[in-house]
Amino acid sequence: MSQAEDKFDAIIVGAGPAGSACAYTLAKAGKNVLVIERGDSPGSKNVTGGRIYTYALEMLEPGIFAEAALERRVTHEQIMLLAGQRAITVDFHQPGFNAEDQAPVSFTVLRAVFDEWLAGKAEEMGAIVACGIKVDRLIEEEGRIAGVVAGEDEMYADVVIAADGVNSFMAQEAGLIQDISAKTMGVGVKEVIELPAQTISERFNLQADEGAARMLLGCTEGIHGGGFLYTNKQSISLGCVFTPEEVAQHKRSVHEIFQDLKMHPAIAPLIAGGETIEYSAHLVSEAGVRGIHPKLHREGFLMIGDAAGFVINTGYSIRGIDLAIVSGIAAANAIIAAAENIASVGPNYIQELNRLKLLPAMKAADGYFEVLETPWIYDKIPNLANDIMENLFRISGEVPLRMKDNVLGAIKANGLTVWQLAKLGIKGVRSL
Ligand SMILES: Cc1cc2nc3c(=O)[nH]c(=O)nc-3n(C[C@H](O)[C@H](O)[C@H](O)COP(=O)(O)OP(=O)(O)OC[C@H]3O[C@@H](n4cnc5c(N)ncnc54)[C@H](O)[C@@H]3O)c2cc1C
Repeated sequence: MSQAEDKFDAIIVGAGPAGSACAYTLAKAGKNVLVIERGDSPGSKNVTGGRIYTYALEMLEPGIFAEAALERRVTHEQIMLLAGQRAITVDFHQPGFNAEDQAPVSFTVLRAVFDEWLAGKAEEMGAIVACGIKVDRLIEEEGRIAGVVAGEDEMYADVVIAADGVNSFMAQEAGLIQDISAKTMGVGVKEVIELPAQTISERFNLQADEGAARMLLGCTEGIHGGGFLYTNKQSISLGCVFTPEEVAQHKRSVHEIFQDLKMHPAIAPLIAGGETIEYSAHLVSEAGVRGIHPKLHREGFLMIGDAAGFVINTGYSIRGIDLAIVSGIAAANAIIAAAENIASVGPNYIQELNRLKLLPAMKAADGYFEVLETPWIYDKIPNLANDIMENLFRISGEVPLRMKDNVLGAIKANGLTVWQLAKLGIKGVRSL
């Protein structure tokens, strides 16, 4: 212990990827770390779509990904545009991309297993991970955060780290965030559907441990949002993310829309015969760099991972786990570098977030937010694309439409104009 007998160098609230990565790095440097997790085990309360970009694990410890509790190496990157009963699937596959003998790009992941593994690694380094305990409030002394209260117990630390996820109660307690805005949040629902490994490989045209990651557009009845499908070793993670404000005004419930997705002719055969073994729902920040809270620290207190607002949603990928890990490492480095000078922890942390390229990466992805704000990309664009395909492939004895007439006709039929599409294109090019 650093000062008093019952005082830690750091107390971390939450054993998600952010909290455990931070604990791992601190404990490895010889710091006394206590991680407090309200779930009965790490990951038991956590929801994710299903893939992790493994560079973040490499930053934690080179080569650690090889022993990580991961599912399938993503070798097929897919985008699916759904419209009514129709679907277009784009499948990017390049032999050698994310191959076994190369630095890994991404794996599918099941959080209950992964989070428990990562917390276990932090324990191996010497961190204490206490599960089944909810932190109720922060202790403030002389203007700085000095510890936490959980039930009857008070625990003290030089630094308290909020790794308690989106809508961080700890950050609210510290006075650094107000209530979150529904406008910048998505609500995700997800099912894990169990199937034999061989069946999954056959249905998705995958070899042994290969996996597919599929983003879906056009499955939310025009509500801002989209779907995802990830192949795990012996299950499929299928889910949708919706903007809660629009859901509240929509005539059908999230559950009904999601059931329709499961029955879609292009999705149903992929999950046929499977058994749903998990159903979950969770909030996810959708605002990218604009969702980062203006103040990420005060004396004796840091925010990491979702608690800080570190999520990038580009429409074709969602990144939160890797950013959670990187921010956990950044916070740990900041504490280690500060040594006895606790006041420098906060500024060090911001420096580390820049040095480890987290903040620059989020800024670089900011343009996606504006493109994703365009309301008609969630229904009219997938419908337009499917209309064009239908005209293209429907051959009869009639003279076929010229490509130009096919496209222009479909644009008009979808209530769009060439100018609108051009403006979206220009906006996209400018902002990206
Ligand atoms: C539907 C959906 C799909 C997603 N898909 C992906 C994806 O495919 N890839 C990706 O990289 N990201 C994805 N994300 C984002 C990703 O899940 C998060 O960014 C990531 O989990 C953040 O990690 P974290 O450690 O900051 O927080 P969390 O994983 O939320 O962990 C917070 C922890 O704190 C604990 N806790 C909270 N309050 C307390 C308290 N008072 N006391 C003690 N413990 C507490 C919780 O139990 C939890 O274990 C998705 C999110 C959603 C909702």
